[in-house]
Amino acid sequence: MSKILVIAEHLDGKLNSSTARAVSAAIAVKGEVIDVLVLADSVDAIATEAAKINGVSRVLTVARSENAHALAAVLAPQIAKTAAGYSHVFVPSTTFGKDVAPRVAALLGVAQVSDVMSVEGTHTFRRPIYAGNAIITVEADAAHTVVATIRSASWGAAATGTGSAPIEALTVDVALPTHTRFVELKQGSSDRPDLQSASKVVSGGRGVGSKENFDIIFKFADRIGAAVGASRAAVDAGYVPSDLQVGQTGKIIAPELYVAIGISGAIQHLTGIKDAGTIVAINKDGEAPIFEVADFGLVGDLFKLIPELEAQLR
Ligand SMILES: Cc1cc2nc3c(=O)[nH]c(=O)nc-3n(C[C@H](O)[C@H](O)[C@H](O)COP(=O)(O)OP(=O)(O)OC[C@H]3O[C@@H](n4cnc5c(N)ncnc54)[C@H](O)[C@@H]3O)c2cc1C
Repeated sequence: MSKILVIAEHLDGKLNSSTARAVSAAIAVKGEVIDVLVLADSVDAIATEAAKINGVSRVLTVARSENAHALAAVLAPQIAKTAAGYSHVFVPSTTFGKDVAPRVAALLGVAQVSDVMSVEGTHTFRRPIYAGNAIITVEADAAHTVVATIRSASWGAAATGTGSAPIEALTVDVALPTHTRFVELKQGSSDRPDLQSASKVVSGGRGVGSKENFDIIFKFADRIGAAVGASRAAVDAGYVPSDLQVGQTGKIIAPELYVAIGISGAIQHLTGIKDAGTIVAINKDGEAPIFEVADFGLVGDLFKLIPELEAQLR
């Protein structure tokens, strides 16, 4: 029997949609029990949201002041202790999950299965390797707890609304480390949609040419209500901050519409948009590799084409 513990990701008292995506993977395993674990200082609002996710059996909460910030070193021992009796621990494959899951796996003495894209059986999973150039099927040892990160872009969020799972408060008796402490969280603030969950994304690359020129990307994104992304070359050149980077070493995203402007389409960039719906490319080089994956392509100068597109949209 599969008994699955899904670790909730949250910020500022709100549940991240990556949690419901991890629940989808748990449903695909046909878990008889799917519990969501919320670790926070104030758990009520987050637990209430988690309880509404269809398919969730119970929401378990651990409320303590040490959990006010998502410190992997502090959360991992509590997760490992709670994991006793569970066959699987699923964590979203986001910055949060990539930080905490390896520590949980180490504490449980198992090898982590990373970036689960699909479930083939209770212990058999498919995941990308070589920057997404190949997909491997891996089998975890059924004698041990499976600790896996769930590739958010590969899973739709489990529906919410009809679920009303019971919420249970836990006391986890485990010594917490004091060698790691929270100092400060620095994050960009923006009124634009969140890059990782937006349904439309407009990204700019080195072809945009400068930080000032990037305004054309921001304006176009605002016109169609999209989040803004960028290639690594654009980030490295200082056009935009690194949290906008899309790709292997940036964000892996799955918007319904992805518009790549002045981006050549290097494999490391394409890895980040593998699961995008419709891809539109604007590039002055008709031979650019981005056109091999684009559903629609415009060959020409972005500084001429974007104003034309905007005029049409008006
Ligand atoms: C280990 C590793 C990890 C990496 N991770 C990432 C990653 O996460 N994300 C990522 O993006 N890259 C990543 N890279 C870098 C990647 O290999 C490419 O170098 C990068 O994606 C190139 O960015 P670009 O397409 O913006 O620039 P370029 O390759 O320089 O392409 C610029 C494009 O703009 C076009 N252009 C120029 N002027 C105009 C104009 N006026 N109008 C229209 N088109 C124009 C050009 O024709 C060209 O195709 C990684 C590389 C390595 C080795």
